[in-house]
Amino acid sequence: MASNPIVDMRDIQFVLFELFDIERLGRFPAFAGLGRAECEESLRLAERISTDILYDANREADRVGIGYDPATGEVHIPAGMKKALAAYYDAGFLRIADSHDEGGMGMPETIAFSCNEIFTAASLSFFTYPILGHGNATLLRNFGTDEQRALYLENILSGHWGGTMCLTEPGAGSDVGALLTKATRLPDGGFRISGRKTFISSGDGDLYENIIHFVLARIEGDPAGTKGISLFIVPKYPLRADGSFGPRNDVLCTGIEHKMGLHGSATCAMSFGENGGCVGQLLGNEREGMRMMFQMINEARLAVARQGLAVGSSAYLHALAYARERLQGSDPADASAKGPVPIIRHPDVRRMLLRMRSYVEGMRMLAYYTALQIDTARHAAGSEAAEAGALVDFLIPICKAGCTDSGVLVASEAVQVHGGYGFCADYPVEQLYRDVRITPIWEGTNAIQSLDLVMRKMLLDPGQKMYGLWRERVMRTISESGGRVDGRYVSLVERAVGALDAAVAAMKARYESRDLLQVYADATVLQQAFFMASLAWMHLWGLAAVTEKLGVKPEGEPAGMEDDAEKSFYYGRALASRHYLGAEFPLFFGQIESVLAGERAVVESTPAFFSGA
Ligand SMILES: Cc1cc2nc3c(=O)[nH]c(=O)nc-3n(C[C@H](O)[C@H](O)[C@H](O)COP(=O)(O)OP(=O)(O)OC[C@H]3O[C@@H](n4cnc5c(N)ncnc54)[C@H](O)[C@@H]3O)c2cc1C
Repeated sequence: MASNPIVDMRDIQFVLFELFDIERLGRFPAFAGLGRAECEESLRLAERISTDILYDANREADRVGIGYDPATGEVHIPAGMKKALAAYYDAGFLRIADSHDEGGMGMPETIAFSCNEIFTAASLSFFTYPILGHGNATLLRNFGTDEQRALYLENILSGHWGGTMCLTEPGAGSDVGALLTKATRLPDGGFRISGRKTFISSGDGDLYENIIHFVLARIEGDPAGTKGISLFIVPKYPLRADGSFGPRNDVLCTGIEHKMGLHGSATCAMSFGENGGCVGQLLGNEREGMRMMFQMINEARLAVARQGLAVGSSAYLHALAYARERLQGSDPADASAKGPVPIIRHPDVRRMLLRMRSYVEGMRMLAYYTALQIDTARHAAGSEAAEAGALVDFLIPICKAGCTDSGVLVASEAVQVHGGYGFCADYPVEQLYRDVRITPIWEGTNAIQSLDLVMRKMLLDPGQKMYGLWRERVMRTISESGGRVDGRYVSLVERAVGALDAAVAAMKARYESRDLLQVYADATVLQQAFFMASLAWMHLWGLAAVTEKLGVKPEGEPAGMEDDAEKSFYYGRALASRHYLGAEFPLFFGQIESVLAGERAVVESTPAFFSGA
């Protein structure tokens, strides 16, 4: 095991090459000749940078945090982060999934996703720097003028300039349409921007020569709500016609948030036009700011799902290493044995480890499957592409909410495995638990994901076509698992599909009778049920695959398997899938019962009934 356990490379290989056979993407011209060796080279390089540079940089950044000088508004990023970022850009990872024509490496999104899982596992803070610049580059490519692309694109993608996404304001969080930032037309075609944004990741810092803010604002006179929002490019240093930096724009970081975690990421309160001198340019068409942002939303939300997976994976591996070393108690399997034993010998510790592993591996299968659908939607044709696109739309809120909630759950279990030491800063799980807590909140809170799933992707989808597609894929796995996997697991997942049919029908009936408050009240539980069922689908698929590799049913006495690294990997994976299906997944039926019960306490609990505050 690596001295800095962050990812299980063997499991990444299994999911990419054995379960999903990623090389099949080579049938698309964009990936012609795609081979395992090339993909593995990228994975190994990501692992090397992550373990050699980024892992320590992340620990250091957690200790020292972000520097801020209130007198000048200057923001200082820890040195280790700069070094890691330079290695990341130099190796070309920011452009790994960009096409060759765009100057990228032309790799599938699924491979980019797995490499970025490794970086994120080493440091969640790190990713807030490059990812936003890449998002801006995508917007520029899709909506920018030739002149805007020429000015900004290469500088952002080469890592010389950074980027931000400025949506949130003190009074406009989940409700972006409530924003107050104003844009006033200038005679030269530009705009004067004025307003305050809050929680802006990498809003300022000494990492980049220039920072290109992408700011949502309302042009004076435009309608209220999301329909009246436009998107503006606001550089920290506007450029002169010859490309040189003009005087600094009137954009200032007015403070740094002091957060429970993510100490290596500069989360800034920003003021635009405090002195009336902030200028920006419109990107795309007026009043289409939200539409443009929504084009990127699937990838952004899947990236957050990856954060839950990556931090969960790292937390699990740290807990596993600790459980093998920490001596405590006598051997519960052998009363005659003398002396304390490693805590991994205690069944409850093994239950926690298996639980963590089952969530991590389930998340990995589900998130990679979704990334694979993104590749298919982009490169296939006709109905294959359309189906993949619809499946992505349906799976995104499930992945975002489910993987981030599970990332928190796994990190919490990892602290528990460490006992009191897990609560102490000396052990990395303490930081992981603090860091991962942001993931259910940003990029649309998990409540917003649940409403997106239940309303937009289900009840407002005529004939529930997206749900039908998801259901069809699950049924395909059920039918392919028959005879290969123990029948009780297969029928459990089949029963779950029937239970979901009933829950969806119940929600539909409430929606049609305009009982919307009850629909909103149950949306999160239904989303959680969909996540659990999606992991069950993946575990069934994974269990069938490892059973085939082992050549025998992974049950009973695993004679001779422990000493063979490959067999023990497959057998261990089967145990994690069996644990999920047999011990965790039954909880799903309680969630369905909760949705079907339609308990009205939440709907009836108007604010007056809450006492104490
Ligand atoms: C570290 C960090 C980095 C961030 N980076 C950025 C960034 O780079 N750019 C940016 O623009 N923003 C950023 N954000 C902001 C983040 O996206 C918001 O915090 C998030 O969207 C929630 O908004 P809010 O904090 O105002 O919470 P609120 O919207 O006030 O929500 C509070 C609670 O009410 C619930 N709620 C609100 N409305 C509804 C509803 N309609 N239905 C059901 N429940 C609801 C929420 O789910 C939540 O539980 C960042 C935040 C943090 C903490």
